[in-house]
Amino acid sequence: MTAERLTLLTVHAHPDDEASKGAPTVAKYAAEGVHTVLVCCTGGEEGDLQNPSLRAEGQPFHGLTPEQEKAKVVAMRPMELAESARIIGFDEVVMLGYRDSGMPDSPANQHPESFHMADLDEAVGRLVAEIRRTRPQVLITYGDDQRGYPHPDHLRVHDISVLAFDRAGDPEWYPELGEPFQPSKMYYSTWSRARTIAVHERLLERDGKSPFDEKWFARPDQDARVTTRVDISEHQFARSAALRAHATQVDPGEGWWFALADSELNEIYPWEDWILARSLVGPIPEGPTEDDLFAGVRDRVGTDS
Ligand SMILES: [Zn+2]
Repeated sequence: MTAERLTLLTVHAHPDDEASKGAPTVAKYAAEGVHTVLVCCTGGEEGDLQNPSLRAEGQPFHGLTPEQEKAKVVAMRPMELAESARIIGFDEVVMLGYRDSGMPDSPANQHPESFHMADLDEAVGRLVAEIRRTRPQVLITYGDDQRGYPHPDHLRVHDISVLAFDRAGDPEWYPELGEPFQPSKMYYSTWSRARTIAVHERLLERDGKSPFDEKWFARPDQDARVTTRVDISEHQFARSAALRAHATQVDPGEGWWFALADSELNEIYPWEDWILARSLVGPIPEGPTEDDLFAGVRDRVGTDS
């Protein structure tokens, strides 16, 4: 048995997605010594300033024209991503090199360098090259059901990931892009309805109000598909601190992200939920019975850690 390191590779669409989706889980594995890789498909060039407090006097966006503001956001996002990745504990950040496609039906969708317009096989090849280079046993991506937030770049993340999962190990595909390597498991991130309800009820109890309204609860939920519940009670900070690192994208006064402190979240929901979509190391559990993304992998990999 060759001594291979445990490696986790996560695919995201924009800088800040790595903070809002699954950051504590990644932090937990990074702290354990698992090699962690972030593949970010676009630079987030279409993101607007979401944090109005940065326009106040003495702040970096004070007095800027809309064009200057946009340019400054684009310039700041790589630094924010680097800081977020440092907080979470990513060992590597890889930019896949596409341009942000913007919101659904916006003109940016048609930009020739956008992720949305990219040739599918070419985009899959870029991810395959990273999988073959870093050899992750576990891949994390977005799910097949994105009715809740159908951003073109998020849909594309899913599309290239499912193809790359199979093609990375297939010597017929991209023979020029490195030695084939087959990941063992692929997970979908999900917005846990159970967690949202727990936060909502806690806020009603504490404040008498909650930012989660009927519209939010009308979004389709996928809790019935959850297979894996990871205890992240030691790593809630990775979400909250990494989100704050994205200062242009996240308003620190925003109740939606920061209504509850990490310690309060631990009291009501100290887990992150995952959907195991592909497994080559055993059957996919029915119901949330798994508590480790590397279950079934650890014993097969001759790790030194
Ligand atoms: Zn995004």
